[in-house]
Order: sequence, then structure tokens, then C-alpha cells
Amino acid sequence: MADKKAGCSCGDIWKDLPPELRPKLKKPSLTRETTCPNCGKVFYTNRKTDYCFDCEKKLGLPPELPA
Ligand SMILES: [Zn+2]
Repeated sequence: MADKKAGCSCGDIWKDLPPELRPKLKKPSLTRETTCPNCGKVFYTNRKTDYCFDCEKKLGLPPELPA
């Protein structure tokens, strides 16, 4: 009866596409130490932006888009 797979498939929107058509995902496996240009906070991030979460909110920066 139940032929639907259990579990969330949110991350599988590309599963039907051949690899060359899938968006390239960078593995954010490495964190780097950076300094927030706004408040000077030194923190570790695996994101491209140097702004810390607080300043990102404060400055109303757009959310980081996947590459
Ligand atoms: Zn900051």
C-alpha cells in the first residue's frame, strides 16, 4: 500500500536530474577564522560573508545564496 518513501525529501529536488544539470554544491566543510567588518568580532565561519550573524541581521544583508 504505502509506496511512498518515508522521510523528508526536501533535499532531493535535484535527484531526477543528471549530474551535469545539478547545481554545483560546495562542501562547506572547512571553517575559517574571520573578523566581522562591522563590529570587529572574531569568529569562525564556513560562509563567504565576513559579517557575523548579528550584524548580518542588523544591516539587513541578504541571506547568502548557494553558489
Ligand atoms: Zn558583527
